[in-house]
Amino acid sequence: MEAAELIVGIDLGTTNSLVAVCDERGPRIIHDAKGRPLLPSVVRFGGGKSEPVVGYEAREHAVEFPAQTVYSVKRLMGRGFGDVQEDVPHLTYAVVPGEHDTARVNVDSRVYSPQEISAVILRTLKDQAQAALRREVRKAVITVPAYFDDAQRQATRDAGRLAGLEVVRIVNEPTAAALAYGIGERSREPQTIAVYDLGGGTFDISILQVIPGAPDGKQEAESFFQVLSTAGDTHLGGDDVDWMIVESVLGEVREQFGAELKFGASTRQALRNFAEATKINLSSADEASLQIDLGDGRRYSRTLTRHELQEMIRPWVERTIRSCERAMRDAKLTPKQIDRVVMVGGSTRIPLVREMVGAFFQTKPYTALDPDQVVALGAAVQASILSGLNRDVLLLDVIPLSLGIETVGGAVAKLIMRNSTVPARATEMFSTSIDNQTNVKIHVLQGERELVKDCRSLGEFDLRGIPAMPAGIPQVEVEFLVDANGILNVTAGERRSGKRAAIQIVPRHGLTREEVERMEAESLAHAREDMHAHRVVDLAVNAALDIKWIREAMKRVGAGLDSTYRRELEKRIEELHQFVEMSRGDSGSIDADAFHRAKEELDRASVRLHEAAITKSLQDEDVAIER
Ligand code: ADP
Ligand code: MG
Repeated sequence: MEAAELIVGIDLGTTNSLVAVCDERGPRIIHDAKGRPLLPSVVRFGGGKSEPVVGYEAREHAVEFPAQTVYSVKRLMGRGFGDVQEDVPHLTYAVVPGEHDTARVNVDSRVYSPQEISAVILRTLKDQAQAALRREVRKAVITVPAYFDDAQRQATRDAGRLAGLEVVRIVNEPTAAALAYGIGERSREPQTIAVYDLGGGTFDISILQVIPGAPDGKQEAESFFQVLSTAGDTHLGGDDVDWMIVESVLGEVREQFGAELKFGASTRQALRNFAEATKINLSSADEASLQIDLGDGRRYSRTLTRHELQEMIRPWVERTIRSCERAMRDAKLTPKQIDRVVMVGGSTRIPLVREMVGAFFQTKPYTALDPDQVVALGAAVQASILSGLNRDVLLLDVIPLSLGIETVGGAVAKLIMRNSTVPARATEMFSTSIDNQTNVKIHVLQGERELVKDCRSLGEFDLRGIPAMPAGIPQVEVEFLVDANGILNVTAGERRSGKRAAIQIVPRHGLTREEVERMEAESLAHAREDMHAHRVVDLAVNAALDIKWIREAMKRVGAGLDSTYRRELEKRIEELHQFVEMSRGDSGSIDADAFHRAKEELDRASVRLHEAAITKSLQDEDVAIER
């Protein structure tokens, strides 16, 4: 058999670029030698014959070499000098007119085309892929914004060629994002999707229509997707938030230490980096502290909360929503007609962005994949379709392996069984196993085996803030919802307190048919011992709760019972307790039937105790009422 041709997928971004590959295991990002997935789209030309500096290093020293460091070159690709006049004031390097009035970059009197500069980035990604995959990479799928015209697309192709890559396909970024989520692969009916892409310096909203079953053999994934409309803002992105934080800090610093304070370009750049780190922090933390040493014993420090940042950026997010409205008008659609919303771009990690986009489209947006990786992953999916490699990746209308959560003692409670058809929904009630437990960890698992250690972990999250209650009293409802595209939404909520938490997962990526078959075969082979282990775990949990309850009741009402009965109960408790202790070790050697019998005997024996306890409670209540 001829080895399938390797084609990589590349997201050539304004701020960051990535390379990905898709094989039997599904799509994945190829990291650099230091394990970093993103490559900043920044190139510094250092006079003479030396090689340009690319990526993180070029970005870190951008302030020291403002005229030699080229960034955001995507804005110039395939455009005329006259077209880019509104971009030029934002760039610190020289943009000059070239032949046929094209936009060129002049660094130290050498003129470069944007294609050449993009080629430096593409070559770096190509080398990165070759090093990681240990084979030659000659072909690529590269993504571009949906609104790119022919000249811009051609410039991107040329950049690829200059980097020694044959560009087998140019794919729209929103289409790639949809492909990464597997949208279109299963759909029988047309779907309308919105792709909201908020990156570092640009915002794009695209409305796509998925046309099912059109071509045979999936050779042209792109033809599944039709762009109905696009809108956006070429000068709106995460960078704005960084500058908003810088401006607010500078304003306060001036207020505190005098208005005459001056800041040079490098200080401002350093502040910007600091502001970006603070912003990223606040996407997961509730507050971040800012400290700046201004010299001469002057220290500025303050705490910025997520809430404050949200209020600062709300108008900025609102501007993107205005663009969404425009795109919807152009597509002649209302938000209700949108089936799915896909989030793309690093800035969609900001919780307020997710919230406002969800509210506008009246649906929970897709966020299971890393928003800054989703375009590259989709490019790799398209690449594998073109190379014929994608055939073995599992794309079924059924859930190939059961989905469940971890319960006490390392057992798995399955909510959705394998071979259920999508969409699928299941809910189950759980409770706590420890008194006054205020946090519950929800660990989502995939697989047929009965114990956590033998299943595949898909992700976990915490349900926090449950009011303190005795074990077994809180009512935690867990809902699994697999939608038609195979995206799994897990929500957990505590009934009394109304606390909720959720996670979104793409469960099928990275499983090949063989893996599923292997996991199934294993589950059959281990069925007996698994069932045994699960049974022992359940018995141990329930027995421990019984013992705890009986001991408490004995303390309250034991004195009123005859001593023969008390001794019998104690003997039975001791017997059952030994099984519980044994189950902490090697559960395989435990006689589960004997364990079960011991538990039943204690249950039976404790009936009189129960009655006594109930009588006592009623008496106590009477007294309380009389008083
Ligand atoms: P582009 O498509 O323009 O190349 P990206 O999708 O890589 O850009 O997005 C880069 C932007 O995402 C930057 O402004 C960066 O600060 C922002 N970003 C990355 N991670 C986070 C995060 N956790 N919270 C908020 N913003 C983030
Ligand atoms: Mg992007």
